[in-house]
Amino acid sequence: MTTGDRDWIVTAIEPSSFEGARADGFLGSQRLSSGAGFQAIASADPAFDREAFLKRVESAFDALQTAWQARDLEAARGFMSPGLYFAWSAQVDQLKEQHRKNVLEGLRIDGLLPVGVVHGRVFDDVMVQIDATCADYEIDETTGRIAFGDKRPEPFAEYWTFQRGVGVATTGKPGTLEKQCPNCGAPLNVNAVGECTYCKAAVTSGKFDWVLSRIEQPEDVAL
Ligand SMILES: [Zn+2]
Repeated sequence: MTTGDRDWIVTAIEPSSFEGARADGFLGSQRLSSGAGFQAIASADPAFDREAFLKRVESAFDALQTAWQARDLEAARGFMSPGLYFAWSAQVDQLKEQHRKNVLEGLRIDGLLPVGVVHGRVFDDVMVQIDATCADYEIDETTGRIAFGDKRPEPFAEYWTFQRGVGVATTGKPGTLEKQCPNCGAPLNVNAVGECTYCKAAVTSGKFDWVLSRIEQPEDVAL
């Protein structure tokens, strides 16, 4: 696994119109390379550790890809921003309606590369390039046959952006990405509006711990 840094050209993350409500949080934000961005985060949160953060990214990647293949996002919902969760839910519903199952056979992470940080007044956004390999195909459940893709393993890359409120401190304890409530410590179950079912903390808001807010393909990201 490689975990180097790369400078990032910031045009990729101009807020687009559908993120209108969120854009306010980025007023006065600084768009930084990952090295400078991690320094900015660590200056406000001394316990923040780059390698520990990337380990957490890895576990979130595994958990969400497993949930996606099972067509049941509940196990990953606690660390997904509401917008991301609803977009993925719609795709899961579509697969179910079409009686298709997406299989990511032999999925493995080849490298994690932080590519940029938006250090805002309200939120920090960290974008990580995830290089991985798998055979990606869809099974038609009515015939048992492959309806899309094939069983040849192919490398691919995705850009996952994690968001956390400015001023939130790293605790070193398990949190959203480990599916534990960062507020009360209970196993993380969230209600329809993304609150912990035990303590009602709005854990998917990013105001307690990192949440996954965007997943983009290479063609959507200008590096
Ligand atoms: Zn809780």
